[in-house]
Amino acid sequence: MSDIIQLLPDHVANQIAAGEVVQRPASVVKELMENAIDAGATSITLLITDAGKTLIQVIDNGKGMSATDARLSFERHATSKIKDANDLFNINTKGFRGEALASIAAVAHVALKTKQEDEQLGTQIKIQGSKITDQDVISTSKGTSISVKNLFFNIPARRNFLKSDTIETRHIVDEFQRVALTHPAITFLMHHNGNEIYNLKESNLRKRIVAVFGIKMNEKLVPINEKTDLITIEGFVAKPEFSKRKRGEQFFFVNDRYIKSSYLNHAVINAFDGLLEKGAHPSYFLYLKVPKSTIDINIHPTKTEIKFENEKDIYAILRATVKHSLGQYNVAPILDFNRDNTLDTPYNFNTKTTTSTPKISVDPNFNPFKNSEDNYHHEEVSFVKQSQSWESLYTGIDTSETTHQQQLFNQEETTENGKTFQIQKKYLLSSIKSGMVLINQNLAHQRILYEDFLESITVNEATSQQLLFPIQISFSKSDIEMIESMQTDLENTGFMFDTISNESVVIKGIPTSITESKIALLLEQLLEDMKIEVPESSFSHFDVMAKSFAKSLAIKTGTALSNKEQENLVHNLFSCKEPAAAPSGKATFKTLTIKEIDAIFNSH
Ligand code: ADP
Ligand code: MG
Repeated sequence: MSDIIQLLPDHVANQIAAGEVVQRPASVVKELMENAIDAGATSITLLITDAGKTLIQVIDNGKGMSATDARLSFERHATSKIKDANDLFNINTKGFRGEALASIAAVAHVALKTKQEDEQLGTQIKIQGSKITDQDVISTSKGTSISVKNLFFNIPARRNFLKSDTIETRHIVDEFQRVALTHPAITFLMHHNGNEIYNLKESNLRKRIVAVFGIKMNEKLVPINEKTDLITIEGFVAKPEFSKRKRGEQFFFVNDRYIKSSYLNHAVINAFDGLLEKGAHPSYFLYLKVPKSTIDINIHPTKTEIKFENEKDIYAILRATVKHSLGQYNVAPILDFNRDNTLDTPYNFNTKTTTSTPKISVDPNFNPFKNSEDNYHHEEVSFVKQSQSWESLYTGIDTSETTHQQQLFNQEETTENGKTFQIQKKYLLSSIKSGMVLINQNLAHQRILYEDFLESITVNEATSQQLLFPIQISFSKSDIEMIESMQTDLENTGFMFDTISNESVVIKGIPTSITESKIALLLEQLLEDMKIEVPESSFSHFDVMAKSFAKSLAIKTGTALSNKEQENLVHNLFSCKEPAAAPSGKATFKTLTIKEIDAIFNSH
C-alpha cells in the first residue's frame, strides 16, 4: 500500500487552527486589544463597523514593531513573549502562544501599520488568507494599528454562522468591558458605526467600573480588600439589594486577566449566604493576584480558564473576605426587591370590566418572518421556532390539547357561575362543571399580559399616555446602545422618547397599561432579558420584549385579589389564545375532574 499521510499546506493548517482562537468578531477584538496592552499602550482605540463583520480596527500607542517583526508576527507560533517551556509558568503578558495574528490573518483581510518610537518610518503589511499581498515603508505615528476586514471571507459556513448584529455587538462590548475593567490606568475609546460607545479616561478601579456601567453603580459597591501569602484580593461586590435576576456583572480577574470560574463564583455566592433572594445574582468585580508560578493559564486556547495550585484555600479565603466585607459594611438583608410590584394594584384590573376581555385580533396577513431568516435557537423558548405563520408561533405547546382544554373550560365556565377562591395569595380555585381548576395567579397573569403586549407591539395598536413630567433614567453606554436599537420596537408598545443621550433617556410617554413608577424597573428587566435571551430576528425581539414586560408587571404571588379581580383573571386567562402555559412554558392551570377527586377519597 502506498503512503497516504501528507502535511497540510500552511494556510490550511492556519485556517483550521484559527477556529480555536477566532470564533467570532469579539474574539478578534480580544486578541488585538490584548496585544496592544502587551505592547505597553496607554491609549487604545477600538473601531467597529457592522458588529465587526465589516471592520474591526485596534489602534494603540504601544512600542510598535520593526519591519522584520511585523512580517514575522503573522507566522504561527511567532511570539516575542516567551522563549521556552519554563516561561509558561512565569507569564507577564496576555499573549504567549503566538497564534492570534496568524489565525486572524488566515480568515480575514488584515492590514497592519506599525512604527517603533525611535524610527523615522514605519511598516505597512497587507495580508489575506495567510498570504502577504503588500509590504511598504510608510510614515505613521508611534504604535500599531491593525484592521481586520471581512472576517471569515474565505469560510462562508463560519460567516453564515455569525449571529445578528445585536448579539455580535454584545459579545464585542463584553470583551471590551473585560479589558477596560482590567486596566483602569489605560485610556480606552470604542466606536461602533461611527458612534462613540465608550470614552474611558485614565482612572482608578472604582471610577472605571462606574464609567463602564453607569453612575448608578457607584452607590452599589462594597469594597473588598484582603492580603495573604497565597493571594491578594481587591475589588468590589454590589450590595445584595442590587442583585440582578440574571447573571451579568460578574467579573473575576486573576493577575490582570479576565477569567471564568464557576468554582470561585460559588465561593462568592456562598458568602452572600442568606442575603440573596432565590435566583438572584450578585454583581461583583474581583481582582485576584497570586504568584505566577501557582497558576496554569495554558489550559484553554482563549485563556479564559485557568488552574490554581491552591484552589481550595483560595475558595476559602475568597468566601471569608467577601462575607467579612458585607458584614463590615452593614449590608442588611434586604430581600424584597420585588416589593413594589407586590403592593401595587394588579395591572389593569381597576379599569377592566368583566366584559372587556383582551381579544387577540390577529392580522392574518402579518408575517413576522417575511424578511428574516430565523433561526431562533433558544431552548427555553418553546413556541418560537422556525415558524411560518402567526398561528404556529404557539407550537411547542401541544396546541390540539390546549385548544381542547380551552373550549372545554369556556363551555363549562358559562354553565356554572364560576365562583372563585384565592388560596395562600398564590392560587385561584374555581369550580367548573367537570370538577375544579387550580390557577397560578402570577403565571396566568403573565400569559394574559404577554398576549396583550404581543398584540399591541405587532399589530401596532398601542396607545400611549403622555407624561406630565418626562422622566429621566440613567443607563450605561452599552445599555443606551441597546435601547437605541430597540427604540422603534419600544415605540410600538407605546413608549415615547424625548431624548436619548450618552448616559440617560428621557421618556415623555409610556404605554397606557404601565404605571409610571414601574418604568425604570421594566426597562432594566428588559435590558437584562435582552442580554440573556439574545433575540435573533425582529420578531423574536418583540417576543422577548412581551415576555419581559409580562414578567415585570404580572401580579405577584402574595398579592390578595378581590373577587372581581379573581374573576377577571380567570376570565381573561381563558380568553387567551394559549391559556395553558405562561410565556416561560410553565403551566398556568391544572384541572381536577370529579373522577379524579373521587379517586382521592376512594383509594384505600
Ligand atoms: P502573542 O500575543 O501570543 O505573542 P500574537 O499572534 O498575538 O501572539 O502576536 C505575535 C507577536 O506580534 C507578539 O508576540 C508581538 O511581538 C507582536 N505584536 C502583535 N501585536 C502587536 C502590537 N499591537 N504592538 C506591538 N507588537 C505586537
Ligand atoms: Mg496576542
